[in-house]
Amino acid sequence: MKIKKWIKRQWKQFNTSPPVLVLMYHRVINLELDPWNLAVSPQNFEQHLEILKANKLVRPLSHINKLIQNKNNTHPSLFITFDDGYMDNFLNAKPILEAYDLPATFFISTKQIGTSQTFWWDELTDLILNSPVLPKDLDLNFTHSFFSFDLKNDRILTEKLRNLHKTWNATLPPPSLRAQLYVDLWGYLSNLEYHEQQQIMGQLREWAGKYSEDFEMNNISMEKSQLQSLSFNPLFQIGAHTNSHPLLPRLNKEEQKKEIYESKQFLESMSNLSIDSFAYPSGKFDQNTLEILKSQGFKTAFTTNPRLVKPTTDPLLIGRYQVNNWTGKEFKQQLSKWMS
Ligand SMILES: [Zn+2]
Repeated sequence: MKIKKWIKRQWKQFNTSPPVLVLMYHRVINLELDPWNLAVSPQNFEQHLEILKANKLVRPLSHINKLIQNKNNTHPSLFITFDDGYMDNFLNAKPILEAYDLPATFFISTKQIGTSQTFWWDELTDLILNSPVLPKDLDLNFTHSFFSFDLKNDRILTEKLRNLHKTWNATLPPPSLRAQLYVDLWGYLSNLEYHEQQQIMGQLREWAGKYSEDFEMNNISMEKSQLQSLSFNPLFQIGAHTNSHPLLPRLNKEEQKKEIYESKQFLESMSNLSIDSFAYPSGKFDQNTLEILKSQGFKTAFTTNPRLVKPTTDPLLIGRYQVNNWTGKEFKQQLSKWMS
């Protein structure tokens, strides 16, 4: 049975409104190491779109506010979103979305657009989990403390270790000292501001003595011209995702304002469009964030909480479901689960 039919039968049976939900993707690319499950292979992504197309579920994000307000909505609907602005969105996701004629929204963290800079979490993965040899001891100078770690035998990346990391995801206990170091550093770095993160990454780069052009090429953000071409395509919508991707509640109101405003400004001047949708970096926000979004004219904002959109949903707190690297069959099962 087609999912749509099945869903309709479900919600009629329980006399509830039809499900409306937002999918969250990050990357469409084959990655060997992906501890946060952010990448979906192009092959799997195409299978997802095939299912969505066949079930006629996808709508452009500009419809979502109307849909929230419409209490008599009778159609299950689904929205496709991407976070961060990776170049693989342009190179791999865009052609498949176009082939299936399905709308999607891209939330862009603007600082790295058109630069060779990568997100710190990707470089951390590459340095710690992918360096063939690392020094045994790591000593880092943090602003208020020191951090030491002894990698012992894990300083050499054996085939066994490499395979352990390939199947590991960071919500599971770390299977090696390298993975433990990765988790410790990730936890520390994610709470810092941009310039502090860069300072620590500089120390780590020097310590690891590693530079890989392949890594950079696979992990950079879009060029400005690519982003522009996305924004000029009526199939696609662009939203803001801050400038440097901080955890917003860690910043004071002025700093948050600047982060949000800079990304909005950049995207508006580049696209000549009004940017009024936003995705919270890592799903984190506080009362200040909500006030700033309202005062800057944002109409919708998206969290990372897996929740259906209901008539009672606050348009600045719309939940999303993260899509993992699932086959078509697995994706279909997930959709049915989420929508029932
Ligand atoms: Zn993000």
